[in-house]
Amino acid sequence: MNKPNISDIHNCYGCGVCTKACPVHIIDLHLNTEGFYEPFIAEEDRCIHCGLCRDVCAYIKDEPAQNNALVVSYAAWSNDEQVQKKCSSGGAGFEIGKYLLGKGYKVVGVRYNAEKGRAEHFIASSLEELVQTTGSKYIQSYPVDGWKDIDRNGKYLVTGTPCQIDSFRYYMKKMRLPEENFILLDFFCHGVPSMLAWQKYTKDVEKRLGGKITYASWRNKWDYGWHDSWAMGIDGGQQCKKVDWHESYNLLIRGKKTFLQSRLSQGDKFFRLFLGDQCLGRQCYEHCKYKYDHSSADIRICDLWGKTYQDNEDGVSGAVAFTQKGAEILKEIDCNLIEHPFSVVAEGQMKTCPKMLPLRDSILTSLADENKTIDDAVSVLDTYHRRQRNIGRLKHPVRTVCHLVKRIFK
Ligand SMILES: Cc1cc2nc3c(=O)[nH]c(=O)nc-3n(C[C@H](O)[C@H](O)[C@H](O)COP(=O)(O)OP(=O)(O)OC[C@H]3O[C@@H](n4cnc5c(N)ncnc54)[C@H](O)[C@@H]3O)c2cc1C
Ligand code: SF4
Ligand code: SF4
Repeated sequence: MNKPNISDIHNCYGCGVCTKACPVHIIDLHLNTEGFYEPFIAEEDRCIHCGLCRDVCAYIKDEPAQNNALVVSYAAWSNDEQVQKKCSSGGAGFEIGKYLLGKGYKVVGVRYNAEKGRAEHFIASSLEELVQTTGSKYIQSYPVDGWKDIDRNGKYLVTGTPCQIDSFRYYMKKMRLPEENFILLDFFCHGVPSMLAWQKYTKDVEKRLGGKITYASWRNKWDYGWHDSWAMGIDGGQQCKKVDWHESYNLLIRGKKTFLQSRLSQGDKFFRLFLGDQCLGRQCYEHCKYKYDHSSADIRICDLWGKTYQDNEDGVSGAVAFTQKGAEILKEIDCNLIEHPFSVVAEGQMKTCPKMLPLRDSILTSLADENKTIDDAVSVLDTYHRRQRNIGRLKHPVRTVCHLVKRIFK
């Protein structure tokens, strides 16, 4: 029987697992008009209608491939101070990868490809390669090449957003991959921003640096600590050479400094759009099944925000095992581990999808306009906030007059 393929699926997770499942290799991902990855089939007539691409697609399923239940949850941070300093929170992600590399696994992780201006999945087989996965890249990754190189006889730690991991779990089940050879790791996921925002942002930065970006890192603790670490660190321009990843362990973990530094608390434009939920994917607002304790992974990591570690400025990860296999691994990693109830580890994490905000479409339209800059998109936001403030003042004239009098006599 002829089964349908994924060609009618739009605004999906863009996880790319369908590209791996397709036996005749006719599926690839491209960016849709809103700047999110979506599958496409160039040569539809080569489709053999086996339906495998749909079988592995988590987007069209009602439930995650595996409804894992909590086994144990920890606060975790690396025993190596330099690793803790370099990673987004406490470096649990890196330490899990390092431990499993030592056990003969390869790590399917995400690095930033500065030449292509995108994050992408790849396979790390050494510590130097693993370093490229440290630090979250807060843009949607292009996963196709990473998936392609996974072979069913190898042993892998597979990392990604919860939706990428859920499709991969469906893939494992469908293809009967040996469970014992695969460890799946995801994170509490806020959502992914449009690549249009990243492209406009980097265009603006490159203009200021006078040349191409050679290195980007989204979280930096520098002088301001972990709680103010929504901070871009970027190298580029004439003075900067391409990063030599052969020396990456020393270069990155042992104190790399960047040229351009820009923090959310100082109004960084990319973070304002992303963390303000102004330019996330439709799938993140309307179709995410993976909030809080919903996961198909063995291990979930996070930033352990919340009261318990509010005075810690070095960075603390949360590490949650949803399977026994995940729990065995966490016990062995080179981290300080403190067991807490899940509610403590997950304090402050989203329990439901973010709300689609009224400006989202106008901001994306502005970002898609090649004659406009990132400043134009941000000014859509600023104008709206100014108007809202003025409307508030009109609604409360007495309060406004008092406010003005106070200002005059200050
Ligand atoms: C888009 C996105 C949204 C996130 N939302 C939240 C959130 O709401 N709450 C929260 O606590 N944490 C969130 N995180 C995770 C958080 O940023 C840290 O990864 C977590 O604190 C663990 O930090 P770490 O220091 O152990 O590891 P890190 O060094 O940050 O580990 C990074 C791991 O994430 C993978 N990774 C990096 N970038 C991407 C990407 N673009 N796509 C897929 N995988 C990637 C790497 O392969 C690596 O395994 C998010 C991460 C991303 C990429
Ligand atoms: S969600 Fe993933 S598997 Fe499903 S159609 Fe989109 S890219 Fe393909
Ligand atoms: S918020 Fe949900 S749908 Fe969006 S990238 Fe994260 S896991 Fe996927």
